[in-house]
Amino acid sequence: MYFENEYLDKIMTDVVKRNANEPEFHQAVKEVLESLEPVIEANPKIKECAIIERLVEPERIIKFRVPWVDDNGKVQVNRGFRIQFNSAIGPYKGGLRFHPSVYEGIIKFLGFEQIFKNSLTGLPIGGGKGGSDFDPKGKSDREVMAFCQSFMTELSKHIGAETDVPAGDIGVGGREIGFLYGQYKRLRNEFTGVLTGKGLTYGGSLARTQATGYGLCYFANEMLKAKGLSFEGKTVVISGSGNVAIYANEKATTLGGKVVAMSDSNGYIYDKNGIDLDCVKELKEVKRARIKEYITTHPDAEYHEGCSGIWTIKCDIALPCATQNEINEESAKALVANGVIAVAEGANMPSTPEAIATFQNAKVLFGPAKAANAGGVATSALEMCQNSMKYSWTFEEVDGKLHNIMKDIYKNCAEACAKYGMPDNLVAGANIAGFLKVCDAMMAQGIV
Ligand code: NDP
Repeated sequence: MYFENEYLDKIMTDVVKRNANEPEFHQAVKEVLESLEPVIEANPKIKECAIIERLVEPERIIKFRVPWVDDNGKVQVNRGFRIQFNSAIGPYKGGLRFHPSVYEGIIKFLGFEQIFKNSLTGLPIGGGKGGSDFDPKGKSDREVMAFCQSFMTELSKHIGAETDVPAGDIGVGGREIGFLYGQYKRLRNEFTGVLTGKGLTYGGSLARTQATGYGLCYFANEMLKAKGLSFEGKTVVISGSGNVAIYANEKATTLGGKVVAMSDSNGYIYDKNGIDLDCVKELKEVKRARIKEYITTHPDAEYHEGCSGIWTIKCDIALPCATQNEINEESAKALVANGVIAVAEGANMPSTPEAIATFQNAKVLFGPAKAANAGGVATSALEMCQNSMKYSWTFEEVDGKLHNIMKDIYKNCAEACAKYGMPDNLVAGANIAGFLKVCDAMMAQGIV
């Protein structure tokens, strides 16, 4: 038994049965359905129109072979995915993840989350996600290019500027987007905004690189402001050292916080003087090195093997920016015991359900990923907008729009949870506010 509400319980039971062995997808669906219980009870039309049954079933799943040749002349075979989840409010939009842990269940969970996140931005974008079990780590540029070209050769048949516009995610940054874009253009002979996160010389938007991390801090700042607090003088811990983590660090620091720890998938660094971000950028963005190397130039800092230890560091604000389920109940309890006041999720679903409950019971301000990290996709939509206008906005213009979008997302989430009797529960607020717009569009468009 998943829910008291019979309708939702039946849907959840079916989701688990029809998507066997996909625990991340089950987790993402369960969290959304939990929040929607009061909405569904207040609006019987949702059941009549089978809105939820349709929402949990992707519109299309594309799964394909990706053969490529490595530097030793050996043929390698990976698996590619694109899940076009829901196009009720706009063309599918969502990133591509290249990581060995990728399988259908990961892409499904991410695609499902993306529907509500994209809706929250207030921009016309539907939900989708894709990726591959390819691991770019340790590969030469030529190998990454060979893989990207093969991946795009199949993907290009299914995407387009008005159909489905992928972007980056874990393992897919500027280099990969460049190779993917080049191959799309070559195959289709068209220069369109089919991908976002592009380089600035070929249609990229200023502030897209910074957007997810900056947006996360704008959102966290709104949560803090609502309680009369701010980043000023606060100690901040950020997991990860990729795109989201680096720019979260940059903005948290600008807002007056002191970031003392960051990590990668091997371990974490603790620098009580405050992390030297230029060094992390050089290590991660230029040299593609391990975070461990930080201590060779910063002898006062410590390096510890393993990822979860980072949550035992005393901090006021925690920003998980690495990957799913990186904060479990034990880590959440350690954060609470050390007096954390706010947690905002930069990564997708980084907190387990038990961890979220721990934060909420302890009255820690909690910003769920769907809302808190929506700045990335929002700015991708601004990139699409500039591409269709064949025009570019300045950094300040894009950053200003991003800031306003994050403020609106916070306000809409806070209002939605209050309206349904769960004040301060931004998890419920984000799910409800994101859902209502998609639900309305689906009802208007008939049974499709
Ligand atoms: P990157 O690939 O740039 O960085 C990922 C970081 O997380 C790296 O430091 C990586 O370490 C670490 N990491 C990845 N997998 C694991 C793992 N299994 N265990 C521990 N650490 C891990 O990715 P992004 O910064 O783009 O993405 C980070 C998170 O933010 C993801 O959850 C993504 O879905 C989410 N996100 C990203 C957006 C974007 O615009 N990029 C938008 C919205 C959400 P290592 O280098 O060792 O692999």
